[in-house]
Amino acid sequence: MAVGRDELGKVLDSELCVPAFKDYCPNGLQVEGRDEINVLVSGVTACQALLESAVTLKADAVLVHHGYFWRGEDERLVGMKAQRIRTLLEAGISLFAYHLPLDCHPTLGNNAGLARAMGLREWQGIDPEDATHPVFCGVFDEGARLSDVVDRLEHELQREALVVGDPDTIIRSAAWCTGGGQAYIDDAASYGAELFITGEVSEQTVHVARERGLAFVAAGHHATERFGARSLGHWIANRFGIDHHFVDINNPA
Ligand SMILES: [Zn+2]
Repeated sequence: MAVGRDELGKVLDSELCVPAFKDYCPNGLQVEGRDEINVLVSGVTACQALLESAVTLKADAVLVHHGYFWRGEDERLVGMKAQRIRTLLEAGISLFAYHLPLDCHPTLGNNAGLARAMGLREWQGIDPEDATHPVFCGVFDEGARLSDVVDRLEHELQREALVVGDPDTIIRSAAWCTGGGQAYIDDAASYGAELFITGEVSEQTVHVARERGLAFVAAGHHATERFGARSLGHWIANRFGIDHHFVDINNPA
């Protein structure tokens, strides 16, 4: 089975509501390879190691959360960036990248994946008026000890988390944003969350958590963003009957 490259792009742009998002990079097809896709490789970041795995697996397309052409970066195709693009073009591999739309998809996205990893059954965006807001929230109906939430996350993500807060605190309301979402801790505090989870930590995040009175967990940028590309890859494989391989290039950040 196969799917046309441009058809796949249209289906994904629609499923992920791409036009609704203001993002720091183009979402969708970023590098054009051959017309038909039989084998798809998904991963978190379109780094050289992922591309080389895709070449080995004879992929026709690569699907990632972190693609190329970020706002403010050097626009020239030189050095590392030239090598990555050359690898794709020489192998005829297309690159599809979905950033914020893949964080926010209500079931396939990174935030939805992290919610499941926490054991939540229901979740939603923090702002009911804005489906593109990257912070999600949910409730532990019975209340959960912070240390139990952390244990579960560390088990699911296979990564040690950085934790701010009393381990015995009972959490009911949690908010989270996968990846580098530490600046959203203020939004989470204003929303009334007792716990905010994201991938990364900055020095000031710890003070904000202490002074605004909520627990904070940094569970890894890469670790919290492995869900979306893998889920979307499975979804594509089921829909179009193509081969799909999720390739995890380990990253401790
Ligand atoms: Zn990210």
